Amino acid sequence: MATKKCKHCYCDIDKRASKCPKCGSSQGAKHYSLGKLIVLLVFGFFIYSQFTEESGQESNQAASIPQITERHQAFKDRLMIDTHTIKDAMWSNPYLLKVGVIDDGTIRNGFASYVCTELNQQGFKGQGISVQVIDIVKLTQENSWVQLGVARCG
Ligand SMILES: [Zn+2]
Repeated sequence: MATKKCKHCYCDIDKRASKCPKCGSSQGAKHYSLGKLIVLLVFGFFIYSQFTEESGQESNQAASIPQITERHQAFKDRLMIDTHTIKDAMWSNPYLLKVGVIDDGTIRNGFASYVCTELNQQGFKGQGISVQVIDIVKLTQENSWVQLGVARCG
C-alpha cells in the first residue's frame, strides 16, 4: 500500500485517503477530486452524445420514420411529364402531394381523385396519401396556397 504523511498528524496513511483515519483531518484531496469529476463529466458527456447520436440513427431506421423516398419523387416527376395540366408538384410530406394547376374556375376534386388513381396504380395504395390541387398562379405570384381541390387516396 502506497502511503503518505497526514498533513495534520504526520502519521502514515493510505496515499489515496482523503481523510486521515487517525485524526480525521482532510487531506486536501478536494481539488484533485474536482478535476477528476470534470474529466469524468466531459468524458461522460462525450460518451452520452455518441450514444444518443447512434441511437438516433438506429431509431430512424428501426421505427422507419416516414420519408419522401426516391419512389415518391419518381412518381411526381413522371406525373408532371404525363399530365400537362400539372405545372408543378411537390411532396409536402410522404402523405401529402401538392399539385399546382392553372385555375379554370372549377372545383378540382375530380382532378385530385385522378392523381389518387395514378398513385394507387403505382403502388401507393393504402398509405393514407392525400392529393391537394393548388392554384399555381396564386402560389407563384402572391405566394399564397389556394386549394382548388383535394382527395384522399386511401
Ligand atoms: Zn492525521
